[in-house]
Amino acid sequence: MNVQGRPTRPETSAVPSRETFTRNRGLNMEEALIFETGRLDATGVDIDDPEPFRSRLGPHARGSAIELPGLTEPETIRHYVRLSRNNYSIDAGIYPLGSCTMKHNPRLNEKIARLPGFADVHPLQPVSTAQGALEIIEALADALLTMTGMDAVAMSPKAGAHGELCGMMAIKAAIEARGEGATRRVVLVPDSAHGTNPATAALIGYSVRSVPAGADGNVSAEAVRAALAPDVAAIMLTNPNTCGLFERQIVGIAEAVHEAGAYFYCDGANFNAVVGKTRPGDLGVDAMHINLHKTFSTPHGGGGPGAGPVALSSRLAPYAPVPFVKREGAALRLVEHAEGGASFGRMCAFHGQMGMFVRALTFILSHGADGLKQASEDAVLSANYIRASLNDAMSAPFGERPCMHEALFDDRWLKDTGLTTLDFAKAMIDEGYHPMTVYFPLIVHGAMLIEPTESESKASLDLFIMTLRDLAIAAIAGERERFQSAPVDAPRRRLDETRAARQPVLRWTKPQPA
Ligand SMILES: *Cc1c(COP(=O)(O)O)cnc(C)c1O
Repeated sequence: MNVQGRPTRPETSAVPSRETFTRNRGLNMEEALIFETGRLDATGVDIDDPEPFRSRLGPHARGSAIELPGLTEPETIRHYVRLSRNNYSIDAGIYPLGSCTMKHNPRLNEKIARLPGFADVHPLQPVSTAQGALEIIEALADALLTMTGMDAVAMSPKAGAHGELCGMMAIKAAIEARGEGATRRVVLVPDSAHGTNPATAALIGYSVRSVPAGADGNVSAEAVRAALAPDVAAIMLTNPNTCGLFERQIVGIAEAVHEAGAYFYCDGANFNAVVGKTRPGDLGVDAMHINLHKTFSTPHGGGGPGAGPVALSSRLAPYAPVPFVKREGAALRLVEHAEGGASFGRMCAFHGQMGMFVRALTFILSHGADGLKQASEDAVLSANYIRASLNDAMSAPFGERPCMHEALFDDRWLKDTGLTTLDFAKAMIDEGYHPMTVYFPLIVHGAMLIEPTESESKASLDLFIMTLRDLAIAAIAGERERFQSAPVDAPRRRLDETRAARQPVLRWTKPQPA
């Protein structure tokens, strides 16, 4: 067990899964690796042998077969369809992974993103032929500025964590421009922060000073003042925070940070809870990334594409990265080089995730100002419905306090059951649900963080709540076997996630003939 109560080794259950001849169980198909099923002589295409030709590769020409697996077309399709059926997705059911905001991706977004003018645009085509694409970037940037009340926005970062890096590099550039690069070496990070925050600060050479969150789950201006010193460059604060709570003292924190000559980085990954209700620019934020893939519903997960534009205050705007779009008369220009300005440089080769920009702008325009505000309100309402409906069955670290977009429970209620948060989460898999986020935030023991999002119907929320109640009653009633052997019906049981992360096996090696 680690300090959050998470078992650090997998408990493999004593109950064997039912044996079948094929190792399939009903529609649960056992699928081998493509390297194991593929054959060198099989192919899905029928093309003539090439005419004799003289290779110009000389000594670099490969002498042996490349040994890519060959499959016929029907075999290929079955392979990938079977694999895809082992996946859980938001299109299959509620995906209550706290902090990740897995909401419905409207099909209108996909339809628009597939229009040939958007889908086929190339980052290297002449700017005069890509004015429509630049207009999308500009329109989305304008919308983000309106929603955040900030002064500039850097569009190129490709994920939330990349956005953090962008914002912190702008802060670093601003501090260096003030001649304080050598003295301001510390970034304050509350202990309730998302793990990417301290990682970002460390990546660009800052040391991290932790600020404790209070018993109410919030960071107080007093605690921030106590940690501030002339060596502090910035604070990185998540709002709404990782406990799903609005930081009540955020304005006081911003004032304290600015008085100390430091900058205020706000992790705005959870903007989906406040968009249309409050603007970070009004709260004193200097830089904040927005996860387009969370707030504005673009498909993500499994390393899928994200986009993390960073809104900047007037103090940081001059340091924004290139490239950016600039209107010159009727035309849009792509500024590719700092051109003597203070830009800290470039985050990535091109302009960011164009396909995600199109989807996010479609989401914004199809919702409108009233619809976006409603989405925030519904996301918060859904989370509070879950919190209030389960408060008597499970324990909540912050009691009756209303939450924002996600409801947080801890494991105190499991105390005398011999069961852990992990057991409870695994039992949800047998019920057909993807578990909530577990053991995060780190400051809550055995945390269970549930984010239903605005796109679940009341019927869906009710069934989810009833399922969790049923499981909670079973846990309290001492049905240990049901939990400790879970998941029974999944294609795999409990995996050693720690070992998978520490010793990943990424390469298939051909078994040697015996
Ligand atoms: C999701 C999230 C991030 C990281 O975003 P990625 O796009 O996954 O890099 C950072 N902070 C918070 C609070 C988040 O919820």
